[in-house]
Amino acid sequence: MTVSAASPTIKSRVLIAGATGFIGQFVAEASLDSDRPTYVLVRPGVATCPSKAGVLKSLRDKGAIILQGLISDRKNMEKILKVHQIDVVISAVGGGNVLDQLALVEAIKAVGTIKRFLPSEFGHDVVRADPVEPGLQMYKEKREIRRLVEEYGIPYTYICCNSIASWPYYDNKHPAHALPPLEHFKIYGDGTVKAYFVAGSDIGKFTMKTVDDVRTINKSVHFRPSNNFYNMNELASLWEKKIGRTLPRVTVTEHDLLAIAAENIIPESVVASFTHDIFIKGCQFNFSINGLDDVEVGTLYPDEPFRTLDECFDDFALKLKDSKKDVGSNGNATPNHVIESMAISEPR
Ligand code: NDP
Repeated sequence: MTVSAASPTIKSRVLIAGATGFIGQFVAEASLDSDRPTYVLVRPGVATCPSKAGVLKSLRDKGAIILQGLISDRKNMEKILKVHQIDVVISAVGGGNVLDQLALVEAIKAVGTIKRFLPSEFGHDVVRADPVEPGLQMYKEKREIRRLVEEYGIPYTYICCNSIASWPYYDNKHPAHALPPLEHFKIYGDGTVKAYFVAGSDIGKFTMKTVDDVRTINKSVHFRPSNNFYNMNELASLWEKKIGRTLPRVTVTEHDLLAIAAENIIPESVVASFTHDIFIKGCQFNFSINGLDDVEVGTLYPDEPFRTLDECFDDFALKLKDSKKDVGSNGNATPNHVIESMAISEPR
């Protein structure tokens, strides 16, 4: 039997928690682009942070309705879900706040009218992947949220979007904010283990496609764009083509990654444990999608293209060009040093 996607005329009312965050911003923008009534939950006081205030203004200008609250405040969440007649709840809270979702799940259960819940996943399939600590702890918490959602019979979709399209720095949880390397490449292991890379805008776009799609109810949705399946060596060559020169390669061994993970510095060690799982163990492709609990985005939406990694790296090359112009105008530093230090010490 062929089950078709939900009618595009259905426009659910969507509440997004974490829309001022890295992944949540892409999801909120895509929700607004899809013309769904979009409510954005922000923590009280967020407007005092200039960068977040800018994100909120941009979302509000595009039509988002901003609500204040914490997902960990069950009573308030119940009120928000009822008063605004929310149909779909999407959580994109960060890795340190996964268990805050326990109260949100209780509120969703109490209200009883939510048609779909997407908990904060947006990475690997947490029941299949098995990273070393401290990454494992985050997966255990995400698994706990899944268990409660399933026990309560809340309709869900788990977004397993794999890696964000960028250079996968082993110590930067938001690598798409940084340019790929300009001095040397750090290659994990022998650089031959592949991963799937997805543009942030595509994470948002395909996430929003799933929310009213009957084929994704109670499924894990996997993002496996075959044209964006690269290993570290291929990624390095792609960037070299963009910058027109070759860079030295330095090997970061399995032992190095495990040692960084064992230092237990949060969040760097968490990122190192995921890096080990991806580029040493091959966690993104070492299982097949069985069709019962899983669906693949390319199968669901075969006519909808992914941005290619090549295009995403073009964007980074443009940013590099712009940053060279900026540095040139004030004459303070060589562009490579400015960008390289940005990559390693992104503010957290
Ligand atoms: P961020 O830390 O960038 O943002 C988290 C957001 O959640 C912020 O807007 C924050 O608000 C909000 N938030 C946190 N706690 C609460 C709460 N109790 N109530 C309401 N809002 C809250 O998160 P990320 O984007 O890094 O992570 C989101 C998800 O994506 C995670 O599951 C993570 O594991 C995954 N991820 C996947 C990546 C990939 O490459 N596939 C990369 C990075 C993350 P405030 O603005 O007030 O801080």
